[in-house]
Amino acid sequence: MVEVEALTKRYGTLEVLKGVSARFEPGRVTAVVGPNASGKTTLMKCILGLVVPDGGAVRVHGENALGNPAVRAKIGYMPQDPRFPENITGREVVAWIQELRGSRGRDLESLIERFGLEAALSQPTRVLSGGTRQKLSALLAFLFDPPVLILDEPTAGLDPLASSRFKDLVAASRDAGKTIIMTSHVMSELEELADRVLFLLEGTVIFSGGLEELRERTGEAKLERAVARLMEGA
Ligand code: ADP
Repeated sequence: MVEVEALTKRYGTLEVLKGVSARFEPGRVTAVVGPNASGKTTLMKCILGLVVPDGGAVRVHGENALGNPAVRAKIGYMPQDPRFPENITGREVVAWIQELRGSRGRDLESLIERFGLEAALSQPTRVLSGGTRQKLSALLAFLFDPPVLILDEPTAGLDPLASSRFKDLVAASRDAGKTIIMTSHVMSELEELADRVLFLLEGTVIFSGGLEELRERTGEAKLERAVARLMEGA
């Protein structure tokens, strides 16, 4: 369970989060949607402790997460554009993170196989394509079996096979009771995975609830159209 309460963040005069409150439940995939620059990434970074909010609270499993880096160990994160130290191989990145975490993690070999990363792991990360970096990022996010997963545009750049295997992993993680927070521009993909929707517009929550409730509220069956309705009404 992740909770944010009255979260505010501004950059100079730009108010990016204007008092965002939300609950992200275990065993659910919550899709965070909204137009560009509505504050989705900032919200996720506040939960991760990568951005310090100006006000409000963040709790992960009931524990205050602000200024509490230990909470980070409970969260697997896939950033939008993953970057790794360029001159070391993928395998060395994995070993380095294992050492930092003081744990080997779980199912490394099966994650390597799932994403077809065997060959890529012996290459320096600078030569990896965006999609392959994304797969390495997925492997690292899931390796330590964290109870919370924050996935920011996780399938951007993945080929159809990797994307499909990734979605299977997300669904299995949801069924195993993980709390999953995800963004994507691909509404059909969110529709496939998400149970709940948090719609942000200019740093304000416009809708928070189940997919069914969103359909009822907007009279639209498809998530893409339902979100468009919300945008028109806002
Ligand atoms: P989204 O993920 O919904 O596209 P973001 O949270 O990335 O939105 O960004 C929200 C707004 O905050 C944007 O206008 C962006 O330019 C601005 N912003 C994000 N990070 C910074 C930063 N470090 N400094 C200044 N402005 C920022």
